[in-house]
Amino acid sequence: MEDTIMSKPIVATTSLAGCFGCHMSFLDIDDRILQLIELVEFNKSPINDIKTFTKHCDIGLVEGGCCLDENVHILRDFRKHCDILISVGECAIMGGLPAMRNGIPIKECLDEAYLYGPTVKDTNPDKIMPNDEELPIMLDKVYPCHEIVKMDYFLPGCPPNADLIWNALTALISGKEMDLPYEVVKYD
Ligand code: SF4
Repeated sequence: MEDTIMSKPIVATTSLAGCFGCHMSFLDIDDRILQLIELVEFNKSPINDIKTFTKHCDIGLVEGGCCLDENVHILRDFRKHCDILISVGECAIMGGLPAMRNGIPIKECLDEAYLYGPTVKDTNPDKIMPNDEELPIMLDKVYPCHEIVKMDYFLPGCPPNADLIWNALTALISGKEMDLPYEVVKYD
């Protein structure tokens, strides 16, 4: 009888309007990373620096919400290429820290960031606002991922505990029920 070669589940990850802390927490699974690369194949991800999808993926892990048109484009691309999409961390789930700008007019945010804020006011004497046409466009506010596309799971925390990410991912790839005990879930 011929051996059946099972293909590994394919995982993609991205950071939208996030700080990469959730990716750092993912890597905090320490030596289980060796197990992980036996269990899954990574496609588009900053972890391996693959920049575009080359295959359809089983699972997409999304860090960060959407504050730029580019974030929306990437998130929609993830929805198209991944069977299961997971919001990882508070920025993906509810906008997180970047969403603190949601109550402030965009012009005020840009003026503070580029013209009058303490770190720029003396270094931008001509008061030039970056306007290269290649720059992504800021959205009117920061959106959580589920307001842009359907998200299938939500892993809370800022960042989520490494064990939470590990437990959720290994449960999904093995088809088992998720075991997410209280100790690995945090909300800050
Ligand atoms: S949830 Fe926290 S750790 Fe994750 S991207 Fe946002 S700020 Fe960074």
